[in-house]
Amino acid sequence: MGKVEVLYQWFLQKRAERCAQALEKNGFHTRVFPDLPTAIDHILETCEEVQSIGFGGSLTLAQLGIYRALEGSGKTLLNHGLPHLSPQERMEILRQQQTCQLFLTSTNAVTLDGKLVNMDGTGNRVSAMAFGPEKVVVVAGANKIVPDVSAAIQRIKEYAAPMNAKRLGFDTPCANTGFCADCSSPRRICNILTILEKCPPRTPIHVILIAQSLGL
Ligand code: SF4
Repeated sequence: MGKVEVLYQWFLQKRAERCAQALEKNGFHTRVFPDLPTAIDHILETCEEVQSIGFGGSLTLAQLGIYRALEGSGKTLLNHGLPHLSPQERMEILRQQQTCQLFLTSTNAVTLDGKLVNMDGTGNRVSAMAFGPEKVVVVAGANKIVPDVSAAIQRIKEYAAPMNAKRLGFDTPCANTGFCADCSSPRRICNILTILEKCPPRTPIHVILIAQSLGL
């Protein structure tokens, strides 16, 4: 690693540690990992305890290779992003995710005062994060840490949503121009904003912060 990369990782680690303290105060179980291998081992250990696992369509989880690592494990893997699924099959998986044992997802932003901020088009991800699954694990690179809720919304609208719309191949203004136009597109991905201010009482949420740049 070069000097700049070492400095950046130190910076992300410090931000993750500060953020973790605030998340814990808000009732979220939180762990900070310095790198991908240690985080992946921890996530896979958590997966060993359950039979059904839902995936919240996260680029971060794809980068970590969690789905691939679990293929062939005999567990029920609920991944609505598989290319061969029909619309009906995809919808059925989205419904099953709401009651799975473990729901794995990332978050669009996490604030230094310990809140999880997300924007969804359909709502399957944010609803499963709040209630339904027996346990939720949220995995995020420390690049998603922002000062507060207003910075989180700004991060989503100016960065994450246009990049995600482009990634998903949606025909939205932002996927063409790179800028949000507060559109009325049928493929708009900004329909539901959730702010988990504190951990909901019936959904244990574990947040895994990694001192790396991950996801969008
Ligand atoms: S409101 Fe529309 S244009 Fe703006 S970021 Fe969301 S999908 Fe893109």
